[in-house]
Amino acid sequence: MTTYKIAVIPGDGIGKEVMAPALKVLDRVGELCGISFGYSHFDWSCETWLATGSMMPADGMDRLSQHDAILLGAVGYPTVPDHISLWGMLIPIRRDFDQYVNLRPVRLLPGVPCPLAGREPGDIDFWIVRENTEGEYSQIGGRFAEGSEAEGVVQTSVFTRRGTDRIIRYAFELARKLGRPHVSSATKSNGLFHSMPYWDERFSAMAAAYPDVRTDSHHIDILAARFVMHPDRFDVVVGSNLFGDILSDLGPGMTGTIAIAPSANINPEKKFPSMFEPVHGSAPDIAGQGIANPIGQIWAASMMLDHLGEPEAAAMILRAIEQVTATPGVALRTPDMGGTASTTTCGDAVVAALEQAV
Ligand code: ATP
Ligand code: MG
Repeated sequence: MTTYKIAVIPGDGIGKEVMAPALKVLDRVGELCGISFGYSHFDWSCETWLATGSMMPADGMDRLSQHDAILLGAVGYPTVPDHISLWGMLIPIRRDFDQYVNLRPVRLLPGVPCPLAGREPGDIDFWIVRENTEGEYSQIGGRFAEGSEAEGVVQTSVFTRRGTDRIIRYAFELARKLGRPHVSSATKSNGLFHSMPYWDERFSAMAAAYPDVRTDSHHIDILAARFVMHPDRFDVVVGSNLFGDILSDLGPGMTGTIAIAPSANINPEKKFPSMFEPVHGSAPDIAGQGIANPIGQIWAASMMLDHLGEPEAAAMILRAIEQVTATPGVALRTPDMGGTASTTTCGDAVVAALEQAV
């Protein structure tokens, strides 16, 4: 039997509440599919930072590197500035483990009310591939002429050929793997003078190497509008760090509740562990009440299985999730989906649905 070593970081707030149902689902799917998991639990969080002054211990990255994947809940605490959790843990993990792909499915699930009128499951079902290590999010730049009339700032974007090509290539490979050979590129070459024309150039070069894949390119402003007006026209969308970041919140927003969507930070070469998490944060406003929706975390576990090379087990979890969201009435839904279920009730319903999802 294959045993995967999983680093589990529940984090803060509802991160700690949604992790338990996700692990229950993994254990059950493991029994059904003949896979097992060895979990290492790490209590690294903003609460740890408040107590000790660091998010993770000095050998934290070494310890994580001994695992096949990382399952993360959410980090964030009302009295701790966001940059602490970002720079103290999340960014080191993404950068040191070269998780250069941020992958998010945008899929409307049955039974989840869609904010876009008239849309049904099947109308919204595509993938966003975001560059996760360079681009607009750089520390290069700074202030000049401070205090004078001429004061200003410069923020520099960095697009290397290696960084640009590898994210675009990933999008093309994904489109092929999904059997949906169509990649859309997010650009803004009519406004950004250097970076986006280069992005377009690399996108065209890659397209030439994948003649079987249809391509189109959209300026980011009209692309946002097209997401909302014609979500059915997309299969795989690739964007830079900034554009991908914005689109990958717009996407889940279009599909009902952000509590359902997962997010994967992937090192495709599997040289380092990849990290899987829900899109939502620690939601301090509802933490401790036992009403957080566990589906985003459970779906993140499904993406993790897919990455580990267990697509059948991953698909089984997704079918179980869909069975639960499609169930009419309020009993299995958490309040954000209009129901009365607790985190545990909703999670247990997914576990139960796995039996039928085999
Ligand atoms: P953080 O700073 O950690 O990102 P946040 O409050 O800024 O936390 P989210 O945690 O993403 O942002 O939550 C935004 C809102 O969405 C929350 O106020 C919460 O009510 C709701 N929400 C988020 N996740 C869930 C969930 N899993 N179940 C139910 N509601 C959720
Ligand atoms: Mg937030």
